[in-house]
This record gives sequence, structure tokens and C-alpha cells, in this order.
Amino acid sequence: MPDHQSAMMPTPLLTSDIIENAILRYPEQRIVSLMPDGHKHEYSYIEAHARIKKLANALSKLGFNKGDRIGTLANNHYRHFELYYAIGGSGAVIHTLNPRLFEEQLEYIIKHAEDEYIFVDPCFIPLLENIQSRIPKVKAFIINCFESDMPSTQLAPVYCYEALLDKETSDFDWPKLKGTDNCGLCYTSGTTGNPKGVIYDHQSSILHAMMSGSSQFLSFNEWDIIMPAVPMYHVVAWGIPYSAPLFGSKLVFCGDKLDGESLYHLIDSEQVNKGFGVPTIWLGLHNYLDSLKQDTDLEPISPIPSLKMVGVGGAASPTNLVKAYAEKYDVYWMGLWGMTETSPLMSASVNSPSIQKLDPESRYHLQSSAGKAMFGTQIEIFDQDNQTLAHDGIQQGILKVKGPWVLKEYFKGEGQENFEDGWFNTGDIAVINPEGYLRIVDRAKDVIKSGGEWISSVQLEDAALEYASINEACVIGVTHPKWDERPILLVTIKPGKVFEQEALIATLKQKVAKWWLPDAILQLESLPHTGTGKLKKIDLRNEYKDYLIDKIQ
Ligand code: AMP
Repeated sequence: MPDHQSAMMPTPLLTSDIIENAILRYPEQRIVSLMPDGHKHEYSYIEAHARIKKLANALSKLGFNKGDRIGTLANNHYRHFELYYAIGGSGAVIHTLNPRLFEEQLEYIIKHAEDEYIFVDPCFIPLLENIQSRIPKVKAFIINCFESDMPSTQLAPVYCYEALLDKETSDFDWPKLKGTDNCGLCYTSGTTGNPKGVIYDHQSSILHAMMSGSSQFLSFNEWDIIMPAVPMYHVVAWGIPYSAPLFGSKLVFCGDKLDGESLYHLIDSEQVNKGFGVPTIWLGLHNYLDSLKQDTDLEPISPIPSLKMVGVGGAASPTNLVKAYAEKYDVYWMGLWGMTETSPLMSASVNSPSIQKLDPESRYHLQSSAGKAMFGTQIEIFDQDNQTLAHDGIQQGILKVKGPWVLKEYFKGEGQENFEDGWFNTGDIAVINPEGYLRIVDRAKDVIKSGGEWISSVQLEDAALEYASINEACVIGVTHPKWDERPILLVTIKPGKVFEQEALIATLKQKVAKWWLPDAILQLESLPHTGTGKLKKIDLRNEYKDYLIDKIQ
């Protein structure tokens, strides 16, 4: 063998290995699922494994070719977990469909992905019935329920999940796959143009699970009780269905119950110690705990004592919530950054001795950042001329990333313009400080260009949230005859609280430069959110684009 070649075995890393390893090491570890009727389903990894193999047998009888896409339209529960492993392990690709997409988008991605079958929760059947005539290539629909619960449906042909499993044994040999074979597909949210597909392979999924679950990042272990309050239909629930079993943690699936009250009861009854979700989820829990305190006059000690850490990404972390979680609930808020294109986790503000040494305000500031990049990945900021910028915490540039779980192309080769010189252009504007902490300043399309200077909508929102009555804040750029764009601030107010413009402006003045102050502040009943719980700024920009023009004229 030439001495420049590797002498190591080319052993594939496969997602099915995770569940095989789990039954060897942690056979009795539990998986709990809160089901739609409110009851809890609970079983062990060893029982999950047996059912996964039955499902794999059922899939091979349905028939598919290696690499074919099989869709799921489902919430967070044990059957969805089984589908992750059975589909990928069998050599097909699980395409998680987001039920909160518009009908046209759902139709578009089912057709674009060429899904062969769709496994659907009973509650989402109407979504498919509405578009079935337009997705004729889907060969069959499988309803995720017991035979006794099979609803009547216009979908055809249709099978029952449990009836399929009942016919099978758990004897199944995983096919011999390569690490580079594909196992998962997720589409971007497509706020501009059509959604684009990101296809994950076995190796990238395993490497992501190994590193993100490691002590450098989320520190998963057998004592952990983990609740991903992030949907399994969007970016693999941040890889947690793979990373938690890899490190032997107990999994708690919250079904479709993402409101503060339901999360509180689940955390409390299952003694969850690590929870994951977008900031809105933790705002909901905080608001619920606040209302509880008023009703029952709970002690000032935490009402959620088991919860020790929340991992929060998908949107910027409001500093006031980081502080509330630390001071009211003794919970460490770990800011995370990632995107569909990056599997998704890339960076985190991990709890560490150096972060604990800081005074509280500096610590909360770092926790609300996107943290440091995970081993194996690279992050860099660039100016408009593609020159790298200093990591001084001040210079803002376009964030580009590299890594073994970052895509090198979109599904079917779309969106080529996002790839340059081996980097993926994230479309985020960011700063990196001298210690390597990343902070997302804005999405490139959300940053407000006022008189040639940039105003960060994210920082302005964070400053507004310091005003205690505000529940949610959203800053958008709207057309201005002199400055091109100026910020306006849209807020919702907490129940029973009052809001005074002057007091809010005084709060803002303490945090941001005078020329950043919004030209208008509007109080709304609610703000629109995307299917993944983020503020839907595009709708608000369209609605308010001429707001200042109309006022000025
Ligand atoms: P998605 O692909 O739907 O997961 O969205 C990814 C986008 O969410 C990123 O490009 C960011 O704009 C935003 N995002 C994710 N994490 C953070 C964070 N920690 N701070 C600010 N924005 C974030």
C-alpha cells in the first residue's frame, strides 16, 4: 500500500448503530411521550429497538429503493422516533414535513422530494386530504395510530401503523450502508422563494450527534432527562433523537403540547433537567410560572427545581429571559446557533468555569450570544469584498461556515450562490469577539439600512425587552424618504400590564445610540410567527412598509 494512504479501516458510521449501541449499554433507559389525549406512553430503549426492527420489516414489504424519500407529518412522540431509525437504517431517507407550512409549500416539497410514502399523525390528515389530488406520486399513507383508533379518511391507499407492526417480527438485519449514504431530508423555511432541501447523510448525522452530545457542548449522559421542545419535523429536533440515545439519556417527548402550562407539568412530573427550544417556548413557560406565582404565592425558590439548563436557539436569546431563568429558576440558559443547513448545531455558550467567574451581567450577555463554534467546525465573518474581518466583537460581517455536518450543496443542486471557496454563506450578519464568542446581529435581510449605516433589529428588540411590561418585541425596517429605511418597533404587552411610550423610549436610550431609536412604536394584540416559532418579519415588513411614508406625507 502506498505510504500516503490511510491504513485505518473505512468503518461506516450509521444511525442504526446508535440504537444498537443503546440497547447494549442502556437497555432499560426510558422514552416517555405525551400523547394527544393527554396520556403518557412509556417504554425502554430495548422495546423501542424491537419495534424499530418490526417497522423496518414493514417498510421492506411496502417496498422502496435505496435513497428513496419517505415523508413523516408528525409531532414529537415515540412512533416518530421509531420512524427516524427504521427509515434511515433501512437505507431510505426520512423527509420530515412541517405541518405548519402553507398547503402550497407542503405540496411543493412533497413533490420536490418525490416522497414515496407519508406517515401521518391523525391530527394532520386533513392537510394531506386537501392536497392529495396534487401529490399523485405518493404510493400510500400510513396513519400513526392503533387499528382501533383508525379515523375515516379520504386518503387512499391507507394503512395503520400498529397493524403493520403487528404483522412483523423483530428479526431484521440492517443493510450494509455507507456512511455517505443519505438518511434525512429537511427543507428550509423558504421565507424568500421556494424552500430548499438539505439532505443529511449517516456520517454527518453521527458526527453531529457525537460532538453535540459531548461534554464540550450539551454534555448528555445517562442521568440526564432531556425534553426537546423543538419539533421533530424541523431540523431533526436539533439532532436530539440521535444524540440523547447515543449518550444514554432518558427522552421526554412533549407531543404537540408546547404551551407553558403543559411544559411545566411535563418537566415537573418527569423531572426533566435539560430542555431545548426556541426563545418563544421559554417565554411561554416563564409567563406561565409568573401567573402561577401570583395565583398561589409560591415560594421564591424555583417552581421547576429539576430543570438545570435550557438550550435555546433558532432566534436571538433575549437577555432579560437569560437573567430571569438564572435568578428566578436557577436554570442555565445556553445560547445555541445553527440552521437547517448545518444539521443544525454549530455553536453554543456552554457553562464553564470562565463564564461562571464573570459578574452576572457580563455572564448573561455571553449566555445570550451564540457561543463558541463546536470542534470540527469553522466560523468566519467577511466584508462585502470577501475579506475576513477582525474578531474584535465590533466589526460586523457576513457569517460563513464550514464543517463535516454543513451542507456542500442543496438537494437537487439549487441555491449555488450560497457556496463560495468551500464556505457556506449563512445569510446572517455576525460579530465574533476575541475569545471566539459569536453573536448574530441580524439576518442580512432583516438588518435595517438607515442612511448607509446598519441598525441591528435583534439588538433593538433585546433592548426593548428590558422594559418589563413587554411580552414580545419585533423591529422591522420600513421605507423612509430621507434615510431609505428606518426602524419601527412592534410590541405585545403582558396581560394586566400597562405600557407607556415615554418610559419605553427612556429604557431604549440607556441601551442603544440615539439614531437607532425607532421612528414609531406600535402596540399589537399579537405578532405572527413562522412554523418554527420565530417572528415572521416578512409579513410585518409587507404590511408596514409604507407606514412612515403615509405618516410623513
Ligand atoms: P432554521 O434554518 O429555520 O433553523 O433558521 C436558521 C436561522 O435562525 C439562522 O440563520 C439565524 O438567522 C437564526 N438563528 C438561529 N440561532 C440563532 C441565535 N442564537 N441567534 C440569532 N439568530 C439565530
